[in-house]
Amino acid sequence: MLKLRDRPIRQKITLVIMMIASAVLLLAFAALFCFQAYTLKQHSAHELAVVGEITAHNCAAAVMFKDEDAAAQILGGLRTMPQIVSARLELADQQQLAFFGTPRDETQIKAARLESGFRIDGDRILLAQPVMASGAREGTLYLLADLHATTSQLLKLYGGIFALVLVASLLVAFILSNQFLHLITTPILRLAGTARTIADHNDYSVRAAKVCGDEVGVLTAIAHLGYWERDLITDRLMWSSETNRVFGLSPEEDINNFARFQELIYPEDLDMVMQAIGVALRGGPRYEVEYRVVWPSGEVRFVYSQGDVILDEAGQPRRMFGTVQDVTERKLVDEVKRASKAKSEFLSRMSHELRTPLNAILGFGQLLERQKPTEVQRKRVGYILSAGKHLLDLINEVLDISRIEAGRMQLSLEPVCVADALEETLDLMRPLATERSIQLSASADIDAGVHVLADRQRFKQVLVNLLNNAVKYTPFFGGVAVSYHVPGNEKVRVLVSDTGPGIPAEKLARLFTPFERLGAEQSAIEGTGLGLALSQRLMDAMGGSIGVESGVGKGSTFWIELPLAKSPLERFPRDGAANGARQPSSEPASRSILYIEDNLSNLALIEQMLAERPGTALLTSMQGKVGLDLARQHTPDLILLDLHLPDLPGWDVLSQLKADSTTRHIPVVVISADATKRQMNRLMSAGAAHYLTKPLDVNKFFQVLDETNGIDSVEQPPAAAISNGDVKEACPSP
Ligand code: ADP
Repeated sequence: MLKLRDRPIRQKITLVIMMIASAVLLLAFAALFCFQAYTLKQHSAHELAVVGEITAHNCAAAVMFKDEDAAAQILGGLRTMPQIVSARLELADQQQLAFFGTPRDETQIKAARLESGFRIDGDRILLAQPVMASGAREGTLYLLADLHATTSQLLKLYGGIFALVLVASLLVAFILSNQFLHLITTPILRLAGTARTIADHNDYSVRAAKVCGDEVGVLTAIAHLGYWERDLITDRLMWSSETNRVFGLSPEEDINNFARFQELIYPEDLDMVMQAIGVALRGGPRYEVEYRVVWPSGEVRFVYSQGDVILDEAGQPRRMFGTVQDVTERKLVDEVKRASKAKSEFLSRMSHELRTPLNAILGFGQLLERQKPTEVQRKRVGYILSAGKHLLDLINEVLDISRIEAGRMQLSLEPVCVADALEETLDLMRPLATERSIQLSASADIDAGVHVLADRQRFKQVLVNLLNNAVKYTPFFGGVAVSYHVPGNEKVRVLVSDTGPGIPAEKLARLFTPFERLGAEQSAIEGTGLGLALSQRLMDAMGGSIGVESGVGKGSTFWIELPLAKSPLERFPRDGAANGARQPSSEPASRSILYIEDNLSNLALIEQMLAERPGTALLTSMQGKVGLDLARQHTPDLILLDLHLPDLPGWDVLSQLKADSTTRHIPVVVISADATKRQMNRLMSAGAAHYLTKPLDVNKFFQVLDETNGIDSVEQPPAAAISNGDVKEACPSP
């Protein structure tokens, strides 16, 4: 006979259900029976009281006249009532007048010494009823009822009903549990079957199918891991076919010894695995290791394995067993994430590092250009500057692309007036077009009310790219035209058409691929092959699109589409500060400028630039704190501030300058290689008067110098932010 705990799980659950059903029924019946028994007693007592009262009344005369016969007769009448087992009538002096019942009943009645009322003792109820005659108590009538027979009858009845109901409910419970129990037991049974096969036959090839998503499902999923077991005495290894799969072996292959297993491990990881095993065997932390395996195909995969050590009676390691899991996919995802993060970090670092020396190259180059060089020198300086600018373009574009790809491009979408954006970009392109005798035209019916939802700077960047390409690739005396229209009600399409050579159909597919110049690299036309790739990503990021229609000899029409936006309700009139229409600068009589910068070549560059402005005194500091002191002591007319300082972040220096009443009024121009819009906005809203990016545009620098001449920063209009040559301005009223 099997013990309950060794019985199959299905039997156990059925049994438990039956037991619960029986217990619940039993409890319910017991409660019902007790209630019935109690009601019965109450009812009987009440009945007894009525009978007692009537009988006592009838006995009054017999008591008065001490008539024993009459009394016996009256009491005898009570025998017809089955519950009343005994009755006694006594006189006031307790002398018995009549009695029926057993001697035991008599003793019980006498011992109770009850004057009046009830006494319930188990199944027996004793009633003492005074016998009154002419208003005085002349005697007492005792009635003794026994409910035993009635109660046992009730018990029998209940027992019968209970038995019937129990049988019926157990039957129903059995049928229902039979019907639904398989939901719980089937997955467990399958899992158990798998385990049994593995245990009985050392057949690790079987796998349990996962059939549900609950805890049992999780257990089943665990059965998908590869198992292994190593006998530490014989070094024999046993493992499941899933383990074979993890190691890239066919299911039939039997890796039965530990030495063979070692061969499968990536050689560089073998030491680590052996060490982990050694530590576990010496009683250290449990075996848990991630290593690479080399599949017979040569493929390298990542495996996660864990296991435990089993000791023998003497406490010596006897066996090890555990699981393996292929984690290559997870590792690769992690790796890609890590690599992409490293790439973005590298690029942003590189961009900063490259911009700093470029700043010196371009700055000094521009200075040389202004110093009336000889023709040969001018040419050479020209080469330096154009190569430097090319490098700067390359850095900026690579940085932009990588920022977009890393999802770190900060865009601020706003309604941008298309007519304005076109006008500004056309203005920028005019010198190049004139240089190449290209006619640059915009369609006449430009509606100044049309706005697109875009990042103003990035939108213009794309337009500049397209116009620059059109002008650049169109031969001398060609034409470039810009137009736009609103095809549906939701988008605005801007078109840039040229009369250039056109692009062959087979090359169109590669047009937006980074570094793809489609043969232009062999021409004298400069380029990086990044402009269109970046434009496409920018358009995507702004929720727009870009495309081209072109054919050899037919010219090209590049188009971009952006969502139509409502024109902003409030239009601001241009003011002097915002549209760049400044008063001609007058040479300052005397002006002091403090430059806080830790890079020597940058310091030297500004120093030399300022040498062009006689009457300007330059104070310099290579540290933030010293700079702050100098500012307080000398209250210069202007502060130029670099953001990367050895002791304090430039951001801190700016806020301290703005918090101090002696320095608050001094305009601060931030000069930084960090060209991100977020950084610019942050510094501008912290009170910077201007934000110039490195490499410095010398003309822009002088322009800012003039603009900040003789003004207090508190008078500065907050939106007049000059960044890398762009003047932020509001859209003009149509
Ligand atoms: P690049 O810096 O070389 O101009 P782009 O990404 O802007 O890089 O353009 C990729 C290539 O597409 C160019 O090298 C050129 O071959 C071709 N291309 C771009 N615009 C035009 C155009 N308007 N006409 C002819 N070819 C063009």
